[in-house]
Amino acid sequence: MTDLDALPLRESLKGQSPYGAPQLDVTVALNTNENTHPVPPIVADAIVQSVARVAGGLNRYPDREFVELRERLADYLGHGLTPEHLWAANGSNEVLQQILQAFGGPGRSVLSFLPSYSMYPLLASGTDTEFIDGGRAADYTLSAEHAAACIRGHRPNLVFLASPNNPTGTALSLDTIRAVYDATEEVAAAGGPAAMVVVDEAYAEFALAGTEPALTLLDGRPRLVVTRTMSKAFALAGVRLGYMAADPAVCDALRLVRLPYHLSAVNQATANAALQHVDALLETVEEIKVQRDRIVDTLRDYGLTPAVSDSNFVFFGGLEDAHAVWQGLLERGVLVRDVGIPHHLRVTAGTEEETTAFLTALAEVLGR
Ligand SMILES: *Cc1c(COP(=O)(O)O)cnc(C)c1O
Repeated sequence: MTDLDALPLRESLKGQSPYGAPQLDVTVALNTNENTHPVPPIVADAIVQSVARVAGGLNRYPDREFVELRERLADYLGHGLTPEHLWAANGSNEVLQQILQAFGGPGRSVLSFLPSYSMYPLLASGTDTEFIDGGRAADYTLSAEHAAACIRGHRPNLVFLASPNNPTGTALSLDTIRAVYDATEEVAAAGGPAAMVVVDEAYAEFALAGTEPALTLLDGRPRLVVTRTMSKAFALAGVRLGYMAADPAVCDALRLVRLPYHLSAVNQATANAALQHVDALLETVEEIKVQRDRIVDTLRDYGLTPAVSDSNFVFFGGLEDAHAVWQGLLERGVLVRDVGIPHHLRVTAGTEEETTAFLTALAEVLGR
């Protein structure tokens, strides 16, 4: 076996590390923001039956246009969206990759605001798109003024906004998203690129009361894209199903780069069955939000500084040695995420028992 450096790897991939959230065998895994509640039996049964119905036909390629799935996703989202506005792929990560394949590439750039989702720079290098970091305020918030100024200054071809942001958990105001879109129009009017603006709403279902989804802004903004996923609130991370709502022309652009029949018949049958049980699937969301708010309150009592969370995870600071705390938690069977930001860790809100295990272990590690 040779090593990676000896291979004629593309320049943009040299020195990169693969995505690698640890997959360790621990009792309490709170490191990748999954919904830690198992799929409800009624949904699991419906999935089994739905997959059984297509199994005999797997000799044929699946519906390339996944029409039934797009109808069900449009119904779920509402906001006057039709199947023509919907697109899906194997996780919202694949949707993001297709967006970069269609609108990014060599000589083009994507602007995002770090710290943010660790996959954005990786997806950029995988498509040879230049990644530009606009940065955030010291408290990790992103203001409309700063975001718009970065767009006027860098004139990117794409903008990736995570709302709520990961790892920090806080949602953007619609004013910020409007300001970003307006700035791209200004740049385009001045002869620069007309940038695609992607709002990654992977955690939308966990939003705090009063947080509005960017779906309400799609009308009249043909370069605005909202991505969603079944990996988080829907408790279906294992399925690999992410989707997007946008102008139908954006879906046409992604048709140019997607692999033929990219969404398998098994995948479509699974998602279609699950979408017939949305209420059962989302039943755990309220419970998770209670645990999330409990984590925020308890960490404050511990003297730590948790960020406002519109998601199913909490980003918190105030740790002297974050990695030592991460290690101490792991020794007690609790895996959280060290996102590499000094003095901070990120924890997923799990079941009540898992949350108790985390808070108890943390109190021990901190000597509280
Ligand atoms: C988890 C997550 C996703 C979801 O990715 P999938 O490919 O749909 O599983 C997307 N964006 C962010 C910011 C995430 O944290």
